[in-house]
Amino acid sequence: MTSTFLAHCPRCDGERTCNILGAFEDVWDWTDGEHSLNGQDDHKLAQCAGCTTVFYHKSSWNSENWQCGYHPVTRKEIIFNPRKIETYPAPEKKSQKPDWVWGIGQIDPQLHTILDEVYQAYEVGSFILASVGLRTALDRTTEILQIDPGLSLEKKVKELQEQGYIGETEAHTLSVVTDAGSAAAHRGWSPDQKAFAILITTLEQFIYRVVVTGKAALSLTEGIPARHPRPKKPAKPNG
Ligand SMILES: [Zn+2]
Repeated sequence: MTSTFLAHCPRCDGERTCNILGAFEDVWDWTDGEHSLNGQDDHKLAQCAGCTTVFYHKSSWNSENWQCGYHPVTRKEIIFNPRKIETYPAPEKKSQKPDWVWGIGQIDPQLHTILDEVYQAYEVGSFILASVGLRTALDRTTEILQIDPGLSLEKKVKELQEQGYIGETEAHTLSVVTDAGSAAAHRGWSPDQKAFAILITTLEQFIYRVVVTGKAALSLTEGIPARHPRPKKPAKPNG
């Protein structure tokens, strides 16, 4: 009977029971007379019991890499060497692109092309290019919503808010998107992964609501009496 172990299958991209086709445990130590290192590399040729993909699996640790933790039963402090897992092939990089973006080509091919390039730039960490792309995607979406194309993008966002497509918080985030291109070009602004994730999530939610699900925003506000204009609040320093 073949022995099995649990491993992350690079093709299923999830933890699976895998058959061990071959294994070799390499226990090693090294010294130059003064310093010493030791560790272990466990090599396996494995086959996923789900998708039958055959892959190489290496689990290793060494004495240089250690962490403090607590024993799961005694709760006593212990020092352990965390294992590093590598597989060949490596799991395919997951796309950041939500599923609905694939279908947006049928609604508006141009918006699909723009978003597709945004996700390509995002996935390789080109946040400046991706931000400029977000701005373009936002502009295209306002065109779909028949906002006056002669307005500046900043004014278009205001228009979106006035027409009830977006709320105040969304308007604030989207106004960051409108500024992204020129901020990157002239003020050396470059969002990090975290900042960009907020921008793209806001735009995704907006596009999904107004383009993919159609009139969701409008039907929510239908029948609700218009709000009385509120006195202008002073601008918040960090919004
Ligand atoms: Zn698999």
